[in-house]
Parts: sequence; structure tokens; C-alpha cells
Amino acid sequence: MVEFKKLAPPTTGEKIEIVDGKYIFPDNPIIPFIEGDGIGPDIMRASKIVWDGAIEVAYGGKKKISWFEVYAGEKAIEKYGEPLPEDTITAIRHFLVAIKGPLTTPVGGGYRSLNVSMRQIMDLYACVRPVKYYRGVPSPMKHPERLDIVIFRENTEDVYAGVEWKQGTPEAKKIIDFMKNELGVKVRDDSGIGVKPISIFGSKRLVRKAVQYAIDKNRESVTLVHKGNIMKFTEGAFKDWGYELAVDEFRDHIITESELWDQVIADDGVTPTVKEGAYAHLRGGRPAGNQGDRILIKDRIADQMFQQLLTRTDEYDVVALPNLNGDYISDAAAGQIGGLGIAPGANIGDYIALFEPTHGSAPKYRNQDKVNPTSLILSGVMMLDYLGWPEAAELIEKGIEATIEQKRVTYDLARQMGDVKPIKASEFGYAIVENMKKMG
Ligand code: NAP
Repeated sequence: MVEFKKLAPPTTGEKIEIVDGKYIFPDNPIIPFIEGDGIGPDIMRASKIVWDGAIEVAYGGKKKISWFEVYAGEKAIEKYGEPLPEDTITAIRHFLVAIKGPLTTPVGGGYRSLNVSMRQIMDLYACVRPVKYYRGVPSPMKHPERLDIVIFRENTEDVYAGVEWKQGTPEAKKIIDFMKNELGVKVRDDSGIGVKPISIFGSKRLVRKAVQYAIDKNRESVTLVHKGNIMKFTEGAFKDWGYELAVDEFRDHIITESELWDQVIADDGVTPTVKEGAYAHLRGGRPAGNQGDRILIKDRIADQMFQQLLTRTDEYDVVALPNLNGDYISDAAAGQIGGLGIAPGANIGDYIALFEPTHGSAPKYRNQDKVNPTSLILSGVMMLDYLGWPEAAELIEKGIEATIEQKRVTYDLARQMGDVKPIKASEFGYAIVENMKKMG
């Protein structure tokens, strides 16, 4: 039995189990949650109104979440004297699926990012961000609805691994001397040094998750995004290992882009083909009468991917990337559908999944019940889907759309819509529940 120093799990509800490598989700799972700092308590309160409301409407009492508060950040310091207590990690590891609000990272000292620490301690190697448009949300695009992608960003490697040395330190000098003397590589003596490790293990497990997701969710393609034309042995290798993994482990479910080109040219009617939409980018379209069910595996160079998402938006579906590309593209894509206040996220390992909004703790708005809870609400939608409760998840998405279309929105969207009086975060939550009840 799991033991905690200062926590008492709820007395009702059950633990999610893993049997033969597969999840068993009970109807009444215990889900740990971290309220978060700054605006965290406000958006968590509003979100729970929506999540619990949706589950009630969708399942009429047959399913229910037993919430279990665990602590990180400022609340943890009050309770434990430290920002990330062992109890919290133990609880998330034990109960497997959890959700959190944003946590403040003190600038210039204090403690390091708790978000990064949690990802590392629990080896949550895939940062998953679905980016799609909800009707009524103000967007800078003419056709924001054309974007509907799910980003799988590698979370543990690349220049984010934290292997770097400050300019002028003995370590930086040592590396520079080593490169000069042992490898014959010239680097300016006054350089800071960072290392970009990208491994077969790290790349393949990320791509495996992306392809498996594409299969499970009946998506059309997986695009490997890299800068392999310049960084051949890291980014280029990520692409190569991604293709290798897809062919080795998912042969009967996938076709690569080069295979598809060959097949379009041959039009032999024998080669397996992809889902209808994946043909969009191929000159000549799909061969007549030959609609397949394979997932198309393709790759794109990162810089051109930014413009492709703008100009050929609907050709992209599931997208797998190394860490840095993933960071940039996630935010750029979120901008297309109305910004970070809307986009949800999750950090997922082999069995542990921690859902979280993509924005920070916006401390200046704390305790004002003011900010937009949509990013956290939608992170909960991802969680409900992960639990195998799609009815509740879809209900919330429809409820959010209806509420935004009624122009019952928080200050941030009201500001962009013009001439709309903003409502509070909690009022937005209740408005969604009201709309869901009408639909349920
Ligand atoms: P931020 O908290 O995301 O806030 C930046 C601005 O974005 C806000 O001032 C606000 O804009 C807007 N915003 C953010 N969330 C919003 C919401 N829910 N509704 C409406 N508007 C929203 O970024 P930050 O100020 O750079 O970071 C603050 C703290 O959060 C830092 O300590 C940072 O390290 C941390 N952080 C945590 C996470 C995480 O927990 N995963 C992620 C990122 C940052 P306006 O001022 O225009 O209204």
C-alpha cells in the first residue's frame, strides 16, 4: 500500500491499474490534481465545475472522478517547506493520471522550473498538444478551422537537456580545448557551450507514441519535423530513426511518403494506400478507386513547416518533433487558433500522464476570478478522452463552442471581440455547464 507523509487519498474511488501493459480505467478513478500558483486556483475551480458537470450530464452518475489534491509550488512550500514534495510525485506515480494548473518559476534563483523537474523525475517524455479551432474564438487567420493537428514534442533531450556551460568558465574552456586539440574543431575561445544530444531511444519512443496515437485515433498522417539538412546527426537522425521505427513496428499500418509517390506513379492497385485526406498534397491526387487505410509517414524541414502550417494547413495531422522545434511550433500553431489561452497540453510517459494548460501562472491576475480557464478545461478534455470517456470530452468541446458563440467570454476574448462585456472565469464555467445541460 502506498504511504504518504501528509496526504490522505479520498476514501471513495479506485486506482487506475495497469494489467498486461494496458490501462484498466475504473468508473470512479482517483485523480490527483495540483491547483497551481497565481491564477491556478481560479482556473482549477472553474474547470472542475465544467469537468464534473460534463461527467454528470454524460453518464448520469454512473461515472465520477474522486479528486485528490496534491501540492506543488507555493502551496507546497506552505505545507511542506519545499516546492515539490515527495508525496506529490508518489501520488502521481501511484494513481498514474493527474492534472495540474500552472506553477510559477522564480526568476533569478529560488528553485528551478517545477514543470521541468516533474517531467524529468517521472520521465514524461512526450509533450502532447492538440491544436484545433473552436468556433467563435477570435483568430488572426481567415480559415482557422483548417488547423487540426496533434503535436508530439520530445521532452527530455536536445538543447533542452540542460547540458551547457557558461562562457568563460573552466568547463567551457576545457570543452573548447578538447574540440581544438582532440577533434580539430575550431570554436571561438569566448564562446558559451551547449550540447544537443538526440538519441535513438529518445527519438523512437516519441515517434512510437505519435504513430500509435495516429492509429488509435484514426488520423491520416504523421509528419516528422526536423532541421536535418543542417544538423544531420541529431535532427536528421531523428527523422531517419522515426521512419525506421514506423516501418519496423507498424509496417501493416503505415506507408511512407516515398513509397506513396512510387505507388502513385505505378498506380498498380496493389500497393496499400493511405486514407483519403493524406493524398491532398500529392500532385495528381489519389489513384481512382484506391482508397486505403494506411497512415502516411512524411517529413518536413522545420523552417518550411512554419509556412506550411499557414499556407497548406489541412495537409498536416499528427506531428512529431524534437524538443526545440516542438516548442516553437506549438506556440506558433496555438497562435493560429486564437492563442495560448485556448491550447491544452499533456506530458506523457510510458504509463504516467500529467495534463496541464500551456500558459503560465499570470500572477498579476491571481484571485480575481478573471482569466480564461479554457486551456485547463481542454487539458481536462484530453484527460477524459485518455480515460476512455469521449462522451464527456465531446460534450465539453460543444459546450465551450456554444458559450463562446454566445459571446459569454472572459476578458481576453472579450477584448478581441470588441463591444463584449467580459464575465468571470467561474461564470464562464457555469455558462458551459448550462449549455451542456441543454445538449445532454
Ligand atoms: P503567463 O503566465 O502565461 O502570462 C502571460 C500573459 O498571457 C498574461 O499576462 C496574460 O496576458 C496572458 N494569459 C496567460 N494565461 C491566460 C489565461 N488563462 N487567460 C487569459 N490570458 C492569459 O506567462 P508569464 O507571465 O511569462 O509567466 C508567469 C509564470 O508562469 C512564470 O513564473 C513562468 O515561469 C510560469 N510558467 C509556467 C508554466 C507551466 O506551469 N507549465 C508555463 C509557462 C510559464 P495579458 O497580460 O495580455 O492579459
